[in-house]
Amino acid sequence: MSRGRPAAGLCDSCRHQQLVPTTRGSVFSLCRRSRREPERFPRYPQLPVRACTGWERRQERG
Ligand code: SF4
Repeated sequence: MSRGRPAAGLCDSCRHQQLVPTTRGSVFSLCRRSRREPERFPRYPQLPVRACTGWERRQERG
C-alpha cells in the first residue's frame, strides 16, 4: 500500500479512498465522498486523517 507515499491515516482503510498516481511518481489520496459532498469532504484531505465522519471500512479482498 505504501509505495513512496505518506500514510494517509484513516483514509488507508476507507472505502472512499482513491489513490491517484501522478506523472511525477507520487501518489495522492483522493476522497471520493468529495464528489457528492464537497462542503464536508475535501478532495485531497490533509494527511494523515485522524478523524473523519465519513469513514467506512473498505472490504478487503480474499
Ligand atoms: S471519507 Fe474520510 S476517511 Fe474516507 S477517504 Fe474520505 S476523508 Fe478519508
